[in-house]
Amino acid sequence: MLENIIAGGASALGISLPEGAAERYRRYFEALLRANRDFNLTAIEGEDEAARLHFLDSAALLTVAEIGGEVIDVGTGGGLPGVALKIARPELHMTLLDATEKKVAFLDKVTDELGIPCRCVCGRAEELGSEPEYRERYDVALSRAVARLSSLCELCMPFVKVGGRFLAMKAGDCATEIEEAGPAIEKLGGRLADVGEYVIPGTDIARRVAVIEKIAPTPENYPRRWAAIQKRPIK
Ligand code: SAH
Repeated sequence: MLENIIAGGASALGISLPEGAAERYRRYFEALLRANRDFNLTAIEGEDEAARLHFLDSAALLTVAEIGGEVIDVGTGGGLPGVALKIARPELHMTLLDATEKKVAFLDKVTDELGIPCRCVCGRAEELGSEPEYRERYDVALSRAVARLSSLCELCMPFVKVGGRFLAMKAGDCATEIEEAGPAIEKLGGRLADVGEYVIPGTDIARRVAVIEKIAPTPENYPRRWAAIQKRPIK
């Protein structure tokens, strides 16, 4: 059962959850399933799997780095990791960004129904990253399953304040991907501070999180358009 898996998993990770969190995860799961009938938000339809692979996976970020203040989840899709993290830490100021209108409409509705106010924004990261309202305004940027790290850095780093961090959730075997992203990390004002690691409780799935500190402002010519980011990766 979802509630038990969340409770057991959180304690295995050493994370305490606020009152009402399990019920919110349940309602969020049900909303995801309902919306999934109309458009694709998740490939996971079983509650045990969703509890582990979506909710605990997201909450586990709290074991990797300190997360506080203004947070943006870039390419959040159905709200992962952003909504799952906001349920675990309601005090976070969470912005959920996605390029697909339908997904953002879903996020607006579900975060309202769950009483976990988030700023839900429809737009492309590489466009908003140049706008003063968003550029270098966030303490933490998060992202899961959006792009390869070298390109993802260009989408995410512009949002982060100097002194803030970008946390990129990756699969266990991402050593090459991280190495290949070295020049992009540096060029965009970052420094690879750590590669966090955890196993999602109740599974044997290892997850890595690249923790990238922002140590200098991102040069003004970044981010570029998506076609350029892909065609001419920073080397
Ligand atoms: N993070 C979620 C969704 C991953 S799917 C999860 O882990 O389940 C990738 C999502 O990123 C899609 O919803 C897509 O609309 C969004 N996306 C891709 N490129 C983007 C961009 N340049 N700007 C904003 N959103 C983007």
